[in-house]
Amino acid sequence: MSDIYLDNNATTQVAPEVVAAMLPFLSEQFGNPSSLHSFGNRVAKALSDARKSVQQLLGAELPTEIVFTSCGSESDSTAILSAVRAQPERKEIITTTVEHPAVLNVCSYLEKNEGYKVHWLTVDERGRLDLDQYKQALSDQVAVVSVMWANNETGTLFPISEMAELAHQAGVLFHTDAVQAVGKLPIDMKSSKVDMLSLSGHKLHAPKGVGALYVRRGTRFRPLLRGGHQERGRRAGTENVPGIVALGKAAELALQNIDVENTKVRGLRDRLESAILSAVPRCFVTGDPSNRLPNTANIAFEFIEGEAILLLLNKAGIAASSGSACTSGSLEPSHVMKAMGIPYTAAHGTVRFSLSTHTTAAEVDRVISEVPGVVARLRKLSPYWGEDGPKANPEEAFAPVYA
Ligand code: PLP
Repeated sequence: MSDIYLDNNATTQVAPEVVAAMLPFLSEQFGNPSSLHSFGNRVAKALSDARKSVQQLLGAELPTEIVFTSCGSESDSTAILSAVRAQPERKEIITTTVEHPAVLNVCSYLEKNEGYKVHWLTVDERGRLDLDQYKQALSDQVAVVSVMWANNETGTLFPISEMAELAHQAGVLFHTDAVQAVGKLPIDMKSSKVDMLSLSGHKLHAPKGVGALYVRRGTRFRPLLRGGHQERGRRAGTENVPGIVALGKAAELALQNIDVENTKVRGLRDRLESAILSAVPRCFVTGDPSNRLPNTANIAFEFIEGEAILLLLNKAGIAASSGSACTSGSLEPSHVMKAMGIPYTAAHGTVRFSLSTHTTAAEVDRVISEVPGVVARLRKLSPYWGEDGPKANPEEAFAPVYA
């Protein structure tokens, strides 16, 4: 029985078509795309085709709006730092408390070291933003809004079109970290007011080490990497040609598969969730149930540790991930669970199952059959779980760890 991979928000399998597309660029097609001879020209043509594929996936107006980078984190850093460097007179930033560290840590760096005022927008228990709070923070002092399109842990979607429109009306640049959204949701930059958008190859069946930043034509821009004139002077460094070709192929496939994500993948995810919810007592789905990525199920199993669930699932050949990370000896629930105010008795026990177009119904069935047994085994060992369910006041036992 082969292992089941339900950790696609962490990274995805490189699609076989993508491997095939990139292989020639690891062998005979080795030219430098900046060279004027035919070795260079052939490779430059491949880069240009890949750029067009990414343009199409994003519904961007022009291929030149796509800047290739090394990953989603680089795209995020480039976007935020470009916006603040291009407008030094503006000293405020708007972001949220549930961003990926790729945005969170850039904003807190600017707050701590460069005196920026960061408006950290909070979320409710379903991970939703309060747009009034956002409108109040918008002003001509804000250099950039950086808000994720889809949350990597819960899959919750933010109202990016509406938020970008509001930023646009206030004359503020708008960046979205769409690393989890691209390839899973239809995206159309032509009809949106988003100025910059980050994506990452390895989240959509391309390899690691390649990403892109969409920069709307006319956006004030300062490069993160200065040097050669690659990417029209917006990102110096000889291009990662095999990676970019791979991203181009992955973008093509993603565009073809958007419907599959929203029909087959969504159906499998819903089946997984409802089967687990009905078979396991005291568990619930985190995030906004009606407004989520089609592939993500983040389930909180109360009174047990997510990491313990993962270890037992892993033994059964199932790969998922948990919302808690072992830091300094204690299991801290993730910043996303904390921001949503998920009680610590549940936040400790979150497990994220993230599917892809490669996931099969048989795999989902096997996960459905394994999870209830794993949870029951762990609850037998849990000091907070008795014969018929949770013991009285189990919250108190977790409180010191959560503080
Ligand atoms: N943003 C989000 C929402 C992510 O989920 C991730 C990766 O998990 C990143 C940014 C960082 O992307 P990369 O791993 O390509 O740097």
